[in-house]
Amino acid sequence: MSKRELTILQLYPRDMNIYGDWGNVLTVMRRAEWYGYQPKLIEYNPGDAFPDHVDIIIGGGGQDAGQEKITADLLKISPKLHELAEADTPMLMICGLYQLFGKFFKTKDGVVINGIGILDIETYGGKERMIGNIVTDSDEFGEIIGYENHSGQTYLGDGVLPLGTVRKGAGNNGSDTTEGARYRYILGSYMHGSLLPKNPAIADWLLEKAAMHRYGDFSTSLLDDHFAKQARVVAVKRPR
Ligand code: GLN
Repeated sequence: MSKRELTILQLYPRDMNIYGDWGNVLTVMRRAEWYGYQPKLIEYNPGDAFPDHVDIIIGGGGQDAGQEKITADLLKISPKLHELAEADTPMLMICGLYQLFGKFFKTKDGVVINGIGILDIETYGGKERMIGNIVTDSDEFGEIIGYENHSGQTYLGDGVLPLGTVRKGAGNNGSDTTEGARYRYILGSYMHGSLLPKNPAIADWLLEKAAMHRYGDFSTSLLDDHFAKQARVVAVKRPR
């Protein structure tokens, strides 16, 4: 029997893919294989044709300049992304694309980069970058561990929930202890590092949502995650 396919779309790998964000795609692909699925990767860059079918969408971070570069294209595919979001497609957006899935990012130079408003968040560039290792607590995924590096300070509106509560680090804005955002099956976060190798529970959540959506079931088998567990122990102990 041929394996069941899961299509993973990586948004803007050329311009939005820093601090190890590519590792998120690798992790989802590898774990999909371990669970018996056949992952298919589509790399989407500005001007490409948007595929007819996707099961998971992953996007990474970028410099302000990288964000400015992809905005026109992002606005162009925005209706498609909204449609997929409302149809409960699981998505993970990190840092720069997390900001642009929100309403706007006003950079520290006063440039307003319009977002697509899937997430009810607003971001304002600050003078100081928030850089370092970060640990948060969440109801759904337990402890979430990563690395942040951003000038943007993000504020959550009523339409989203925070992904986690900051224990160490700055998070969304350095002041209200929230980190990331959740809406339907969309997760936004400032955590690079990459996020998913150190937080396989989030990778499995994305895969479960995708498999349930497409096939109506998710066949789990117990994986040997001891390397991921060791990485988490080391990462939590790291100084800020
Ligand atoms: N350029 C944005 C900021 O500085 C996003 C940075 C990132 O993706 N790491 O806030």
